[in-house]
Amino acid sequence: MNRKVVIVGAGPAGLANAFWRSIDDPAATVTVLESQQRPGGWVQTSTIDGYVCELGPQGVRPSAEFATLVAALALEDRLLPSSRAARTRWIGRGGRLLAVPMGPGGLLSTRLLSLGGKLRILREPFVRRATSDDESVSAFVARRFGAGVVPLVHAMVGGIFAGDADRLEIASAFPALARAEREHGSVMRGMRKRGHASPTTTPKLPKAALYSFRGGMSGLIDALAYALGDRIRSSCPVTSIARAPGGYLVRLRDGSAVHCNEVVLACPARVSATLVGEFDPELSRDLAEIEYASLASVYLGFRADGLPPALNGFGFLLEPGESDAVVGAICCHSVFPGHAPPGHALVRVMLGGRNHPHAVDLDDPTLIGLASDALRRYAGLRTDIGFRHVVRVRDAIPQYESGHAERLRRIEHRLSEHPGLALRGNSYRAIALPAQLARAASLGPA
Ligand SMILES: Cc1cc2nc3c(=O)[nH]c(=O)nc-3n(C[C@H](O)[C@H](O)[C@H](O)COP(=O)(O)OP(=O)(O)OC[C@H]3O[C@@H](n4cnc5c(N)ncnc54)[C@H](O)[C@@H]3O)c2cc1C
Repeated sequence: MNRKVVIVGAGPAGLANAFWRSIDDPAATVTVLESQQRPGGWVQTSTIDGYVCELGPQGVRPSAEFATLVAALALEDRLLPSSRAARTRWIGRGGRLLAVPMGPGGLLSTRLLSLGGKLRILREPFVRRATSDDESVSAFVARRFGAGVVPLVHAMVGGIFAGDADRLEIASAFPALARAEREHGSVMRGMRKRGHASPTTTPKLPKAALYSFRGGMSGLIDALAYALGDRIRSSCPVTSIARAPGGYLVRLRDGSAVHCNEVVLACPARVSATLVGEFDPELSRDLAEIEYASLASVYLGFRADGLPPALNGFGFLLEPGESDAVVGAICCHSVFPGHAPPGHALVRVMLGGRNHPHAVDLDDPTLIGLASDALRRYAGLRTDIGFRHVVRVRDAIPQYESGHAERLRRIEHRLSEHPGLALRGNSYRAIALPAQLARAASLGPA
């Protein structure tokens, strides 16, 4: 009997899951139900006056998952590796920018750490292992590397999670660091060992810190959507799911229902919570407890002549206390040349996140004012700004906060009671794109 599979959500996770399934099990009937008009979830690109503006991800970091998918979709020709300039990053402290050290030499000379702070980092291999497993990111870093590193980590966590390093759980947010300590007694030792691990046989991409596509990140979604064709049904919000003989009954807002053997919930956990509420209130409660952060992005475009050096790198992140709204900025023109019109620059300033939840509700002129001020104050921008575009994402970035690992254990236990039900997407184990594109499973069967 051919299996009927329904995937709820045509974000990157749902699309990639459908794509790999249709290759691995060609006999299965796969249907992706998406509530919005367009597939892609947070991956949406708008090109306005030649400026390439993303709603969500600016790019994807190098990974086996991404390289494998790019090869399978034959997307190599449209791939856009980041420029060498993207390796220069800055941290905002005390109203100015300081360069992030690259490599051990940079660590010795950086002004971001005192001499005592640098010596303390060298003691990391001798620090004892943790005793609790729900330690916060900031507590972990302070314990292993010293308090001097904590403000930097707050800034970086703002850039990665739009999150709060005091609330995120190290074992869930940065599992590789927690594992390095657990298995090798030291993050530095663990990372060195990982660096020496034998290379895997994945397709090779040109070396870069980040990848996008010529017309922006939507290039990836367009290719997946093309490959899946009419297996994707857009404007089809799922409203509830019930257990049914041989599987599940997936109900849609228009009153119709789809019977299937397997359901993959690739929508945010808070949506999955409402969908499973009818047949598993306990699972629903745990899913509903996962928090999300909101973020506004202000795109500013201007002539590129005489740009200050800070606007010719990757961008900058602000340490705590620098701003009550701005998280940081990405120099899109410098990371991905071609994403701004010739002779022009495009900078994406991000505001909000877990530490500034009010920012996403500010009106456009206020957000544009805050973003422009940040570029003038920190990066020394003098040029007139000619292009302005604001986008907001609400409840968009999952936060793996205290108790997350324990919650996932309970969720996995509940899933074992529901054959054919699986969870995918970035609400659980990895917030960035690569894990969402993987062929392998994340939570539950399938
Ligand atoms: C501002 C921002 C910047 C980011 N930057 C980066 C970056 O630079 N690099 C990186 O790797 N990652 C980045 N990410 C993370 C990346 O976007 C996520 O990893 C990815 O979008 C997660 O994919 P997903 O499919 O799990 O979820 P989503 O993208 O959230 O997709 C979920 C889908 O489910 C659909 N859905 C919801 N409810 C229903 C329903 N009831 N019925 C049917 N469908 C439903 C939604 O409409 C959506 O299409 C960023 C995210 C944001 C928000």
